[in-house]
Amino acid sequence: MNIHEYQGKEILRKYGVTTPRGVPCFSINEAIEAAENLGGKVWVVKAQIHAGGRGKGGGVKVAKSIGEVKQYAEEILGMQLVTHQTGPEGREVKRLLIEEGANIAKEYYVGMVVDRETQRVALMASSEGGMDIEEVAHNTPELIHKVFVDPNTGLTDAEGQDIARKIGVPEAAVKEASQFMQGLYKAFDETDASLAEINPLVLTGDDRIIALDAKFNFDSNGMYRQPEVSGMRDFDEEDPDEVAASKFDLTYIALDGDIACMVNGAGLAMATMDIIKLFGGEPANFLDVGGGATTERVTEAFKIMLANPKVKCILVNIFGGIMRCDVIANGIVAAARQVELKVPLVVRLEGTNVELGKEILNKSGLPIISADGMTDAAKKAIQAAKG
Ligand code: ADP
Ligand code: MG
Repeated sequence: MNIHEYQGKEILRKYGVTTPRGVPCFSINEAIEAAENLGGKVWVVKAQIHAGGRGKGGGVKVAKSIGEVKQYAEEILGMQLVTHQTGPEGREVKRLLIEEGANIAKEYYVGMVVDRETQRVALMASSEGGMDIEEVAHNTPELIHKVFVDPNTGLTDAEGQDIARKIGVPEAAVKEASQFMQGLYKAFDETDASLAEINPLVLTGDDRIIALDAKFNFDSNGMYRQPEVSGMRDFDEEDPDEVAASKFDLTYIALDGDIACMVNGAGLAMATMDIIKLFGGEPANFLDVGGGATTERVTEAFKIMLANPKVKCILVNIFGGIMRCDVIANGIVAAARQVELKVPLVVRLEGTNVELGKEILNKSGLPIISADGMTDAAKKAIQAAKG
């Protein structure tokens, strides 16, 4: 789960991490009022979307008067902001952050992720802030410094100060930089974050350390115990089909291909996508209907898959273990009738009562293409999608 920059900064402030003062806004008038209330002479008008690279795309503008705040707010609010993370279609900007302008002496990078190999939170920091960290990692990996934090102690003073010195923070600000990273670690740990990125973290002209940007991702499986963070979810920023799917406990991820897949179990779903690609096809989605492939959920799954105009064929690949194949077949038939299927449907069933399941499909009168095994199913689906 993702949140906006201004929400990330709200979390950071609770953990004693310094950020510029700022106000989220939904209209031009709110933006002007926010700038007036913040006071000062320089403001930054920032698009709030769940994607990075906003500055380069024209979604972050420095205003030197209230008139400019109004002008930039008008330009950015409602724009279709294209960044390297949004895809060519861009994302409509529905929220702004009006923030006080910071006096930047130097930009750094600080990030945290869960490192699966060491089973610790990895803190990464670099002198090369403000730019794409992927590029830094590729071209000058020696400029990225790492600490794997011991969960028993948290990030220690010694570790924090050491990494601050390594990235070139001047001595006068080392202690503050270390406290900043300790606050960030605590925020990361206590909110079930899976990624946190402060790019840039800046040193100001008067040797203060502040977070100018804040990106957080959270572990969705932890959100049941994080009501405050869950409350920050912005459905406008999410794929509407994925939101619809999550309401029925379906795990759905839209992809670019034309073969829709409905599978039970994440492992089988991954294998199904792999085998489609192996034979030269392209999956239109990942969809795990889970253990209880009931008629209702299969119907919803069909509706969601068919809402994608790119879909030319549906491949159902179900292993009837706990669920019996005849029950699943009845579900598929009922669902296919309800949604008025306009594309070919290839079904591969395996497991308990498979013969009975196949018989139900055959007798349904629906144009279902029955397949034996994964290879046969993938080949038939690719053929069917070609028309
Ligand atoms: P993104 O990473 O999406 O481009 P950032 O929040 O990192 O967005 O902003 C891009 C750049 O804009 C920053 O690297 C910084 O140079 C500048 N900037 C952002 N916020 C402020 C601010 N409050 N004061 C001064 N400059 C800012
Ligand atoms: Mg940034």
